[in-house]
Amino acid sequence: MSSEADDCNSNTERLHFLLVPLMAQGHIIPMIDLARLLVACGSLVTFVTTPVNLARIQPIVDRAAAAALPIRFAELPFPATDVGLPDGCENCDLIPSVDLYLPFMKALSLLREPLEAYLRVPDPSRWPKPSCIISDNTQYWTADFARALDIPRLIFHGPSCFYLLCSHLIDRNRAELEAEMEAASGKPILLPGLPQPIQIRKHEVVPVWRSNPAWFEFIEVLRMAGESADGVLINSFKELEPLYFERYHELTGKAIWPVGPLSLYKEEFDAKATRGRASSIDQKLLFQWLDKQEDGSVVFISFGSIARNTKAQLMELGDGLEASGRPFVWVVKEASEGRGRVSGLDEWIAEFEEKVEGRGIVIRGWAPQMVILEHRAVGGFVTHCGWNSTLEAVAAGVVMATWPHFADQFLNEQLVVNVLKIGVAVGVEEPTAVGVEDNKEEVVKVRREQVEKAVETLMAGGEEGEERRVRVRELREKARMAMEEGGSSWVGLKDVINYVKQAEKEKDKSKKPAVQ
Ligand code: UDP
Repeated sequence: MSSEADDCNSNTERLHFLLVPLMAQGHIIPMIDLARLLVACGSLVTFVTTPVNLARIQPIVDRAAAAALPIRFAELPFPATDVGLPDGCENCDLIPSVDLYLPFMKALSLLREPLEAYLRVPDPSRWPKPSCIISDNTQYWTADFARALDIPRLIFHGPSCFYLLCSHLIDRNRAELEAEMEAASGKPILLPGLPQPIQIRKHEVVPVWRSNPAWFEFIEVLRMAGESADGVLINSFKELEPLYFERYHELTGKAIWPVGPLSLYKEEFDAKATRGRASSIDQKLLFQWLDKQEDGSVVFISFGSIARNTKAQLMELGDGLEASGRPFVWVVKEASEGRGRVSGLDEWIAEFEEKVEGRGIVIRGWAPQMVILEHRAVGGFVTHCGWNSTLEAVAAGVVMATWPHFADQFLNEQLVVNVLKIGVAVGVEEPTAVGVEDNKEEVVKVRREQVEKAVETLMAGGEEGEERRVRVRELREKARMAMEEGGSSWVGLKDVINYVKQAEKEKDKSKKPAVQ
């Protein structure tokens, strides 16, 4: 029998995971890592994507094909214009305004039909029907889809367990918290029910979507879809937030499996450098420069894939960096080509680069973040506290200056600064507007003096600074151990696989006629 035929036969016996990410960099990237891990454990994976997103991850697709990995990328048409989105608006980082988020979610739910059609086409390698769906929690339509396929559905949560627990408690106690917030004249209040004292702010208790009935309904749909899931995978590790894992499990009664940091999935340098999309800088030049810097001396500044800043804010940030006197690598995605481009920035950046020549590098667009964070010269990270970035910093043992913009980022900041004590807050009080169109006003939330001070405290910071660095390095070791064979996240993933195997066995048993 040919080896191809062997593969076909063995394929029919393997578990087949259907992965449905939210079309956003911070969700696609960790889910691709998850796909690689599932395949390494002997499973088959169908990964749902769309044309624009597939083009971005083409290097990953090519590498998977070259290594003959059993990952199929199901490229489904994205009905952007059908729901009133601009053509090609297939990723959260392309949504022009916050008003278009709900139409975007609607478009995602319309992927069901093409996905059904995709799965109906006979596969030459005789892949079995999916054994399990792992979908982002925003992909609520997969709840019904999994029921129709009669397979388990697990949720993949993008944020930290700390955030999930806090938002669970806020949701359940919103009316009381709103009243308390009112009585406190909008000042931060304590969130009861947590293992440690955590203060929450007005925008966390009364988010902007509260006044929009359509959003309210959407959040309710998500909640119900979440409750019907068979279990939850979290890109985190138990040793990072043990009390929060425990409490979240107690409160939801769900199986919670830590599987991260997924970014620690072992890959060679080039693969790590093109996570998400191709880098916008000549990597050779960047790393030649980094190689010349002293250990732990460089500050890395990046705000993820969605958060955008105004020209005035970027100039303020740049001035603060210049004043800090520290070497840096700064990612300015607002200066990249495309929809989110901020006009008039090019001239300013060119002048800025002249002033800091030799001391700093500006990346216009997408940076190879993981490999930068892992470089020995990088000693601090000014971050927006997106969960992936936060976890990647922990996994690389790099302390953070926290500059949250919106969503889970303010609570992640509290985890970093107040619970784990591995970062300093830059001092942001209010969320930033989300979409490019919503960011037209030249708003400045953080002044240059704040940037300078935060960078100084982060990179030096005396005894406290040293203690932060020691703590983050300890966490880095724990993160690595969690992902090693026998570690807590390794066990988490094995448990997921065993759970799905068991579900298949039970289904087979129930199909067999009872013995008379
Ligand atoms: N990222 C990157 N290069 C960039 C910007 C972001 O590699 O220039 C990656 C980053 O390493 C992380 C993800 O994109 O894995 C962003 O996710 P996160 O949760 O931090 O932020 P979001 O983009 O969701 O706000």
